[in-house]
Amino acid sequence: MKLTTLILLTTLQAAAQIGVPERRQAKVPVCVINQNVLAADVPVELLAERLTTKMFADIGVGIEWQHGRPPATRPNHCILTTVTTGVPRTASSHALAAAGPFETNQITVFLRRIKRRSALSTAILLSYVLTHEITHLLEDVNYHAPSGIMKSHWDAEDFNRMDRRQLTFTPSDISLIHLGLASRHERRSTE
Ligand SMILES: [Zn+2]
Repeated sequence: MKLTTLILLTTLQAAAQIGVPERRQAKVPVCVINQNVLAADVPVELLAERLTTKMFADIGVGIEWQHGRPPATRPNHCILTTVTTGVPRTASSHALAAAGPFETNQITVFLRRIKRRSALSTAILLSYVLTHEITHLLEDVNYHAPSGIMKSHWDAEDFNRMDRRQLTFTPSDISLIHLGLASRHERRSTE
């Protein structure tokens, strides 16, 4: 069994034992700095942010968006997103974005691939990509769910569900997100 799988199973067991409520409200909103919103179409980007905010709000997690270049002393807890049209050589052929390394709290979005990807509106697909990558950072484990937002490869049926806004988090994702948020909050209070 891989170490990450073992850690994940242990985390999920811990979540079950302490009875993490699926719909509890995180106290502190997650700060996300979108540093080059102008690289994309602004209305598309803002709509994607609104849809992302809604997906997290549905599971009791607030997102606080900021725009523009981050201050030199960017708070460690803020997630930084960068929209690029190019794709780094290290990215896999199907990746629409990348998150991490986790401790850097950074997301890179491959906008050209998102625009080419499907008949879905760019805003909808971008919102699911942002939600997926933010979740990786919040969960702080390299985990993909068998279905839903955190699936590693979305298929045609998943894209159809996105179009109807019916692609959702699994219960395990919700538990992992709230566990991750609790430990982020703990780290912040000792920073
Ligand atoms: Zn992923």
